[in-house]
Order: sequence, then structure tokens, then C-alpha cells
Amino acid sequence: MCTENSRKIYEKAKESIPGGVNSPVRAFQSVDKEYPIFIKSGNGSKLYDEDGNEYVDMIGSWGPMILGHNYPKVFEVVKKELEKGTSFGLPTKKEVELAELVKSCFPSIEKLRLTTSGTEAAMASVRVARAFTGKNKIIKFEGCYHGHSDSLLVKAGSGLLTFEHQDSNGITEGVVKDTITLPFGDFDKLKKTLENDNDIACVIIEPIPANMGLIETEKEYLEKVRKITKEKNVVLIFDEVISGFRVSLGGAQKVFGITPDLTVLGKIIGGGYPVGGFGGKKEIMNLISPVGNVYHAGTLSGNPISVAAGIETISILKENPEIYENVNKKTENLVNKINELIKKYDIPASVNYFGSLFTIFFSKEKVKTLEDAMNTNDKFYSIYFDTMLENGVIVPPSKYEAHFVSYIHNDEDVEKLLKSAEKTFQKIA
Ligand code: PLP
Repeated sequence: MCTENSRKIYEKAKESIPGGVNSPVRAFQSVDKEYPIFIKSGNGSKLYDEDGNEYVDMIGSWGPMILGHNYPKVFEVVKKELEKGTSFGLPTKKEVELAELVKSCFPSIEKLRLTTSGTEAAMASVRVARAFTGKNKIIKFEGCYHGHSDSLLVKAGSGLLTFEHQDSNGITEGVVKDTITLPFGDFDKLKKTLENDNDIACVIIEPIPANMGLIETEKEYLEKVRKITKEKNVVLIFDEVISGFRVSLGGAQKVFGITPDLTVLGKIIGGGYPVGGFGGKKEIMNLISPVGNVYHAGTLSGNPISVAAGIETISILKENPEIYENVNKKTENLVNKINELIKKYDIPASVNYFGSLFTIFFSKEKVKTLEDAMNTNDKFYSIYFDTMLENGVIVPPSKYEAHFVSYIHNDEDVEKLLKSAEKTFQKIA
């Protein structure tokens, strides 16, 4: 497969963009290439690179593209919206429509604020939790990722794990001190911490962690987290930037039947356009400016194009519940077939999955914690990534990310993925 144009663009990119990319994981390269693939276009379940190669896309822009690229109805709505102008810096009726739509799917959200990214939404939710409780510290879990605001970049997952620096430079000691990090899934440690410290404003958690690879959450753990945060008057924030509208129309909270105080959203609510949102209880959200004095703003917050794409995407999902059945069943079948191949070739690998998300870990034992994920075989993962790419399938370049199955993936895509996975396993066996 010729990818010479990507190589040339990367050489140029490095001159003007740090690392040649605008988000670190994009720089990840296969072992035999010294450059990432540059994408020219996407359509349905496919991506096309600058050399004209076609790939089955298993990352879906890291989550938003549950309907695939350029889903016709979303595309039409966006085209119409573009004719009306792109950004006004003044409120629009459509923002109200999106807020009402999100609220109808997430009963825990009484009020919602839109942002331009998941990062901003998570950052603002922590700020409002601090204001609400009058407390300073926050608890997050090692390997969970909540965007790149200072206080949430401590022991973070996603690209930070991939590049083996779980903490970012440039963050003050004071900020780090106020962020307590605990192992995901260890309830006793959480309980002890909450019992010994009265200055904790919130617990922020990915209810289905997908930034240390996909970890399969146990409902009982989340129930206990909900119970103790309530008892201790600590705000519970579910970061559903990935799981929201992905694992069900009402996100992970619907699946588990747990009501957080605040929810962070992003990705699917913008239908592939830049957006984020956070919302929850009225008494907390009403502290936000201009009602209260917790400042949150954004030139492009609630951008009309993103909002229109979000409304259309969520409406399609809401009106067609079979979409969730389709993606979940497709993922289950795919995971079962991968497991058969793992067995056939006796590979030290296991698959974690939830809804339409999955991660292949190269270890015989099931991965339940960040530590387990870190101990899996990196060399085998990079053989997997390289072999898939060579065979026209783009999978996450890192074991710390999830595969995203979309509605538009068809039998042919699944077959291609399985054939390529088989080739990988033949190499490893
Ligand atoms: N929260 C979670 C769970 C995420 O996975 C991400 C991004 O991947 C974010 C927050 C940050 O969102 P964004 O990249 O839109 O800033």
C-alpha cells in the first residue's frame, strides 16, 4: 500500500505544527512507517487517505460518528444550516431545542450548558461542583480521561498513557495537590478517602472507562460510589463524553440505573461537529453565570452548525431505537468471532466490550484494572495495529483506546476486520 503522500505531508507538518499533529494520539505510527496516515475524506464506514487508499474506520473520530461519516440526513441538515450563517455570538432557538432533546434522554439533567468541547464541559462541571459545595479537592480515577484542563490532567488516560506520561508538565503543584487520584474499581480506597477528608467537592468518573482501553464496569461499584457521595455531600459527576448516546440513548446512567448530580457530554451530541455540554441538578446549574457567579462562556458555545448536527443525530437515535440494537448486536457478534480466532490460534489475548465499544488486550487474563491494561503485551498490540492498517482497517493505535462500531458498518467491513485480525493472530502465534 503506497502512503507516500502522507509521508510528505508529515515532513511538512512537523515544520509548522508540534509533532505534526493537533492531538497527540494522531501522531502514533506503525512500526514500519515513520509517519501517521493523513486522511483526506470519510464516507459511511470508510476513510480515504491522501494517497487514495480506503480503510474501514474503527475509531469513528473517537466516538462521535455513531452513524458513520456524512450520514445523509445529518449532512442535509448541516448544508441547510450553513446557508443561514455559521456563528452569531447570540442565542438561537436551536440551542433550546438541543437542550430539551438532551434532557428528554437524560432525566438527571434538569439544566444543560453547551460548550465547544468535552474538555471545557468537564472543567466547568468541576468548577460548579466546587462552588456548590464550597470545597476544594476533587477525586478522579487513574487512567480515566476528562480532557486537558489542568486539574484533570493528573494520572490521566488516553494519549497520556499512550505516550507514557500520565501527568502533564506545566501544571502547578497547588492544582495537583487538589486532585486526588484513586484506582478505578477500588471502593474501599474511595470510602477511606471520603471518610478522612472533608474538603472534597466532587468525584468525577467515566462510568464506563474507555481511555485506558475499555474496562467493563460493575454496576455494584457505581451504586456504591453513588451512595457514598450522597452520604458525604460530594457531587458525583459522570463523564459520559464517550458513553453518552453511545451505550444507550440515556448513556451509562440509564444502563446502570444510577443518577449522578452532574453529567458531562460531548462527541455524539455534536454529530461530528465541535460541541460539549454539562448539566444536572437545577440547584447546581443555577450557580452558573449569569444566574450565579460561576463563570462559564464560549464564543462558539452552542454553535448553530454543531447544534443542528447534534439535534439531527440525537433525533435519529431517538426515533430509531433499533440503531442501538444493531450496533450492540454487531459488536457482540464481532467480539465473539474475535474470541473464536483467539482460541483457534491460542493467542494470549482477551476482548473487553460494552455496547458498541471494545478493546483487544494482548493478555490471557481478563483486563479489569489500569494495572492489568499496562501489563498487557505492547509488541503484540503494535503488530495488530500494523497488520490491520496494511490490510485496510484503521484501529486505535494504542491499547489505551477503544474501537467504536457504527451503525453504518456492514457485513463486508466486519469480514475485512476479522480477516485482518486473523492475519495478525497468525503472525503472533
Ligand atoms: N471526557 C472523556 C471521557 C473523553 O473521552 C474525552 C475525549 O476523548 C474528553 C472528556 C474530552 O473531550 P474533548 O476531546 O472533546 O475535549
